[in-house]
Amino acid sequence: MSHDFLQPLTGSFACPAAENPTVAMIEAAFRHHGLPWRYINCEVAPEDLGAAVAGARAMGWRGFNCSIPHKVAVIDHLDGLGDSARIIGAVNTIVARDGKLIGENTDGKGFVRALRQICDPAGHRAVVLGAGGAARAVAVELALAGVTHLTIVNRSAARGETLARLITEKTPAEAVYHPWDGTFAIPAGTGIVVNATSVGLYPDVEATPDIDHDSLQPDMVVSDGIHNPPRTRLLQAAQARGCRTADGLGMLVGQGVIGLKYWTGIDADAEVMRQALLDLDL
Ligand code: NDP
Repeated sequence: MSHDFLQPLTGSFACPAAENPTVAMIEAAFRHHGLPWRYINCEVAPEDLGAAVAGARAMGWRGFNCSIPHKVAVIDHLDGLGDSARIIGAVNTIVARDGKLIGENTDGKGFVRALRQICDPAGHRAVVLGAGGAARAVAVELALAGVTHLTIVNRSAARGETLARLITEKTPAEAVYHPWDGTFAIPAGTGIVVNATSVGLYPDVEATPDIDHDSLQPDMVVSDGIHNPPRTRLLQAAQARGCRTADGLGMLVGQGVIGLKYWTGIDADAEVMRQALLDLDL
């Protein structure tokens, strides 16, 4: 009887890596779908990133994720970029295609995938709170998904203006920067509100982005990138005002589903992956 003891490998390079729950979610999907694949969570220091990528190449890894602080630096070690990763200027998922390592960015794609369970973003106006890495990925993918106008609200004007310019110049949507000096009121006519700042992240769970909750209308979809805790104060306030909401776990699972599709070709069961994260009781 012949055996195949060679398991296809994927994984993650980050620093720190110990608190990243992605391995639990991805390996739950491998098990559920009967795939003999593995996902190896690796702590990789910035100065070792090139060697780690060379190692993944040498060992025939099918792909890997990159998280903080490697999302931009990894680009120098790859053979090409997907379209939105090129616009965003950062990569979180690497895929081995025909012997080449191609960088993709699934942060924003995962967000849009989760949002689509609630509404089609096409034709809407959006407010994005934040202008960091997550906001950049979310804003670009919203624009590519047909959002017509984005208001970028951010504390640092330089980052906010840079993101608004990027959207206007590189995507079909128009974007403006709005300074965050005092409580921000969501403009009437906004369809989608996204918190892409780190405000509300554990352990600072009582913190909430400084927006006027009374400006939230029931026809708005309010989403939060924070996955720990999934039910943030912002989402609680939005639900109390009759808004539909999308949580950060949906974004995390969405990224995983898209990454698994890139690596294995399967359409992974999002519910199994979400449950694997919930079982961790983050
Ligand atoms: P960055 O450090 O790149 O950006 C942080 C952003 O938050 C900046 O816009 C920053 O504003 C803003 N910010 C921080 N503190 C405050 C504050 N007190 N008031 C107002 N704005 C503030 O981080 P990332 O973009 O990589 O990550 C942001 C969040 O998104 C994290 O909490 C992360 O957990 C989450 N995330 C979730 C994912 C998921 O799958 N659910 C995936 C990726 C990220 P300024 O520019 O002025 O400093």
